[in-house]
Amino acid sequence: MSGLRLFNTLAKEKEPFTPLSINHVGIYACGPTVYDRIHVGNARPLVLFDILVKLLRYHYKDVTYVRNITDVDDKINKRAMELGMSINSLCETTINDFHDDCVALNVSSPDVEPRATEHISEMIEIIETLLAREHAYETSGHVLFSVLTMPEYGKLSGRSMHEMIAGARVDIAPYKKDPADFVLWKPSTPEQPGWDSPFGRGRPGWHIECSAMAKKYLGEEFDIHAGGLDLIFPHHENEIAQSCCAHNTQYMARYWIHNGYVTVNGEKMSKSAGNFTTVSDALTKHRGEAIRYALMAAHYRAPLDYSDVQVSESKLALDRLYRVAGDASPSLPPSEFIEILDDDLNTPKALAFLHQKVKDFNKGEKQVAGEIKACTELLGLLKYSSKEWFQSEAYKNELSSLEIEQQIEERRIARINKDFLKADDIRQKLASSGIELFDNSDGTSWRRK
Ligand SMILES: [Zn+2]
Repeated sequence: MSGLRLFNTLAKEKEPFTPLSINHVGIYACGPTVYDRIHVGNARPLVLFDILVKLLRYHYKDVTYVRNITDVDDKINKRAMELGMSINSLCETTINDFHDDCVALNVSSPDVEPRATEHISEMIEIIETLLAREHAYETSGHVLFSVLTMPEYGKLSGRSMHEMIAGARVDIAPYKKDPADFVLWKPSTPEQPGWDSPFGRGRPGWHIECSAMAKKYLGEEFDIHAGGLDLIFPHHENEIAQSCCAHNTQYMARYWIHNGYVTVNGEKMSKSAGNFTTVSDALTKHRGEAIRYALMAAHYRAPLDYSDVQVSESKLALDRLYRVAGDASPSLPPSEFIEILDDDLNTPKALAFLHQKVKDFNKGEKQVAGEIKACTELLGLLKYSSKEWFQSEAYKNELSSLEIEQQIEERRIARINKDFLKADDIRQKLASSGIELFDNSDGTSWRRK
């Protein structure tokens, strides 16, 4: 038993969390489609669900966290073509980059990270069951799910059928019985990736991938399904339809947890809007742990406005925590802290609690250092020793001391040669890398901002 309460999109309210079995919790999160590097908006669920899983592991002996990789998708085919790469090497490169980004953000690996292409037979099996139960039909080489055969369709998103048809980006293909019907299987041309199936050579629709992988690793009904707000409809609605109709269950997952968007100046960060920062670009300016901190600074269901200033402030906040607890050995997290996280994962309040503890420490309560350290472990922060944190280069592209000294020397020579343009250029470039120069009678000194 835990005091954990989560906002369940299915119930549209905060509910006490009760797992299906006493000691085991199963959680599934939709992972990346590996056609390109992830951006900061994609990183938010990775960080938040990582914290949720850490909290679940604190409360329950046995937690299975499944986060898939979508490695068959038309976006991948298109991108591979643009880059002149094979689909396989694009996927492998992108998966490696994704794992690097996760490590930089202190995001732990899930227990299982299934790939869609390794679960095609499981998908075919569900599609065959849906056909046998007349929840699906074959037409023009496609297999489609028939939404009218499921009266509860739309329950998760709370949309009426009319709204779903109007709001969904469904291409109203002539072979669909109903415009809201969605693809379970589609035919592939010889150049496209495809698998032999009873419905002809083809490839799965996106939604069926998650239904098949969740079932394989967590069962027909499991505890928590998580993802971004933008996945509620149609992706999660369709996962529920497929799984519940194939398995004849009331639920696919009992709790559906959705995180809010990352925004930039109030607008949703997205590939299509072009206002995105990839995690790898962000890491050229900031430390991964500061980005992680920034991503938990707002409540997970609220929008989070991302900016360099906000990440720089997060770095300073982390400095304060490292100064007090960087080298402390963890004691137990105070129950008050657990209660804060148990209340629908209130990370901003949890961070405020830690900074209050820093104040207590500074007033002489030295024993709180171990408590702070224990709390930060649940949040996936303070991974380094204080020495590593304060002395290492702050981020990937940061100049080393030697490089800075070399630049200063070049600038000195430029000034002697009266090449003031070049000298100024060097100062500007150093300034943009966070290095301030101070000219005085003995020469030039410098410091990192
Ligand atoms: Zn999914």
